[in-house]
Amino acid sequence: MLDDTSPPRPYRGRFAPSPTGPLHAGSLVAALGSWLMAHQAGGRWLIRIEDVDRTREIAGAADDQLSALHRLGLRSDGPVVRQSARDDLYAAALERLLATGDAFVCHCSRRDLAAHGGLHRACVAQAHRPDPSIRLRVPPGTRVAFVDRIHGRIEQDLHAEVGDFVLRRADGFWAYQLAVVVDDADQAITDIVRGTDLIDSTPRQILLQQRLGLPTPTYAHLPLVLDADGRKLSKSLDALPVATGDPYDALAFAWAALGQTAFGQAGDRPLPWLAQAVERFDTDRIPRAPRPALAASHNAFVADDA
Ligand code: GLU
Repeated sequence: MLDDTSPPRPYRGRFAPSPTGPLHAGSLVAALGSWLMAHQAGGRWLIRIEDVDRTREIAGAADDQLSALHRLGLRSDGPVVRQSARDDLYAAALERLLATGDAFVCHCSRRDLAAHGGLHRACVAQAHRPDPSIRLRVPPGTRVAFVDRIHGRIEQDLHAEVGDFVLRRADGFWAYQLAVVVDDADQAITDIVRGTDLIDSTPRQILLQQRLGLPTPTYAHLPLVLDADGRKLSKSLDALPVATGDPYDALAFAWAALGQTAFGQAGDRPLPWLAQAVERFDTDRIPRAPRPALAASHNAFVADDA
């Protein structure tokens, strides 16, 4: 456990894409933002492929994302880790939680829970399933607060708003919440910088860190990029890939989405531009609200104030 007397840990950030499609403009905002904050802090930045949910994985997407990041000059300062190769770590964490009674086997189905607002606060299973899930127990009064570097103090009543949440799914896959907490601790990540769509997951992850006796990193949640219809860009059909085209267009788009003032031209050599971007990046300018953006044409991006 870390306490106030622990020496500060060296900054280690990460970008953790799920291989559910090509790298798109929305996820590039998280990639660039986390890369800039790590480099500005003189820290390291790691890429982790979150391929724990094989049902959502698109064949070849991880390699496509990695080559797009490489082309944009966003290179991992260490080996790229893939969650699919880390079952043993997740199993060990789950064993610990089962042993302490913090985790429990649950036979409830989605249908069972529908009458309870979809949340699990007690087992209401109608029948035993051959494939039960495993959940983390979230007792009444479990409140978690943290100070986000962009959004300030956030507090959630996990019992009321989330309930007992899944650690291992009924289909046998590890839940994102467990895998991400185990990986961030194993990789000694000190600073998590990612999209605001994950801000609601953060209290669950902090609770899991506490249950496992792991340190809690610092969090910064970056603005999402919305399409013309107000949908999260990555979820929309026209979430354009950034694998091709001028790297500067993609980087400049993400830079504008991070609230930064345009400068320079990268052409097809992003590294000098990135070095300047580290100098100029100002976290105080990162907007809290989602950024509307329109894809002007394939692989060209225009932010509202770019
Ligand atoms: N794999 C998650 C995603 O692509 C990100 C997880 C994280 O940054 O904590 O949405």
